[in-house]
Amino acid sequence: MSDKREAPDRAHRVVIVGGGFAGLGCAQRLAENDDVSVTLIDRNNYHQFQPLLYQVATSLLGGSDIAHSLRAVFAGQDNIDVKLAEISAVDTATKTVRSSDGDEWTADALVLAAGSQPNFFDTPGASENAFPLYSLDNATNLRSRILGLLEQVDRDPTLVQRGALNFVIVGGGPTGVEVAGALADMLAVTVPAEYHDLDVGAARIQLLDYGDALLKPFSDTAHAYVAKVLTERKVQLRLGTGVKEVGPGHARLSDGAGIATRCVIWGGGIKAAPLAANCGLAQGHGGRVDAQPDLTIAGSPGVYAVGDVANIAGPDGKPLPQLGSVALQSGKTAADNILAEFGGKPRKPFAYHDKGIMAMIGRRAAIAEVGKDHHEIHGQLAHIAWLGVHASLMTGTRDKIEATIDWSWDRFSKTGGPHVLDRGEAAEINWDDDPAATALSGASSAAS
Ligand SMILES: Cc1cc2nc3c(=O)[nH]c(=O)nc-3n(C[C@H](O)[C@H](O)[C@H](O)COP(=O)(O)OP(=O)(O)OC[C@H]3O[C@@H](n4cnc5c(N)ncnc54)[C@H](O)[C@@H]3O)c2cc1C
Repeated sequence: MSDKREAPDRAHRVVIVGGGFAGLGCAQRLAENDDVSVTLIDRNNYHQFQPLLYQVATSLLGGSDIAHSLRAVFAGQDNIDVKLAEISAVDTATKTVRSSDGDEWTADALVLAAGSQPNFFDTPGASENAFPLYSLDNATNLRSRILGLLEQVDRDPTLVQRGALNFVIVGGGPTGVEVAGALADMLAVTVPAEYHDLDVGAARIQLLDYGDALLKPFSDTAHAYVAKVLTERKVQLRLGTGVKEVGPGHARLSDGAGIATRCVIWGGGIKAAPLAANCGLAQGHGGRVDAQPDLTIAGSPGVYAVGDVANIAGPDGKPLPQLGSVALQSGKTAADNILAEFGGKPRKPFAYHDKGIMAMIGRRAAIAEVGKDHHEIHGQLAHIAWLGVHASLMTGTRDKIEATIDWSWDRFSKTGGPHVLDRGEAAEINWDDDPAATALSGASSAAS
């Protein structure tokens, strides 16, 4: 079936797959042009703000603070049509996409902006048992698992010996560090205020990474600062160590050690969204589609790849990192090039304006590299810079206000945001389903 809502009065049609930073940036730029009709397709009817997923997982923010309806974003733009569909096949020759339930959309220009997915690097049991943090769905799932464990230990303290309060975080990049810091704060500040019978001192957070430092892209001074902050907040760092197996009730580490745990949080890496494999295009590093300097795909005229799904070369020829700012800017440049092409003008190469990188480590602790010379700041100042940058990136005004209220509340009070256990299935645990966990019971909490 083809798209029933063609806009006959518009000269050109664009289809965008993905309403993340890249797809949104592209659609917002195209919305300004009346000659173009845009179909923006996403499997969710909302845009999700991934940088704050860890705050949803640790009950600092509610899900609705970081998700914004795509239809609301484009409510005033009648040349932008939003479709809720999962795209399962792409014909780049005809610039046609097909949904898993059989609908098709054909365009004059096609933009692939489908983002990433977690990369478990074929670690046995990881995709089944670990908790990734890539989507709102992941974040609410993880929140329910954390809260479910707290509730169960509150009623039965002996579960601590079975690893109920052992939290294992895989990956020392921004996702791992941010979730480790936020979880440590939650256990130190908000949980004691709310769970009167729970011995929170028995909780263990272990952060693992194969490398020798956390937040590798930052300086050695920053590495030392992050390690100091997390260690002070009782996060145990296990650098030079990875996970080689994840069971329902345990994690086996690369050094042979085992940990009884019901919560392995996966921040171990990402790869291109499955759509990249469904386009019949060559896949480069990370399974991503190699974009040309103007963001088109070689051999597929009129087809663009932007954001996380693409390898986009920076000024040094190396692929730019998977960041919200890269995605947003590449989406906008793709829109400019599409409009140039429709107008018979030359396309321009993408030029990334690097505004720096930042990571939150926990309450009143963050690091940021800002400005052209990547000046590094730490502590409260970086925390405030982080709040400002992320609030300004949020899609809707309501989100900005609510998130800022929640963040301010967190800074000045001892209770966190919504501690809502809304995913019963994520909180449900069969304590006898993993013989390896039973063997490790008691031992791992004593060892750590
Ligand atoms: C936990 C976490 C923390 C992060 N923190 C930061 C940070 O602090 N700063 C920063 O700059 N960056 C951060 N990033 C990276 C940043 O969020 C990404 O680089 C950015 O979201 C990429 O944008 P995108 O539009 O390419 O992809 P996404 O934002 O992933 O959007 C892709 C969209 O495509 C849709 N989609 C995918 N496949 C299909 C399909 N087959 N059919 C229909 N729809 C589909 C998805 O539903 C999604 O809406 C973080 C990422 C994560 C996961």
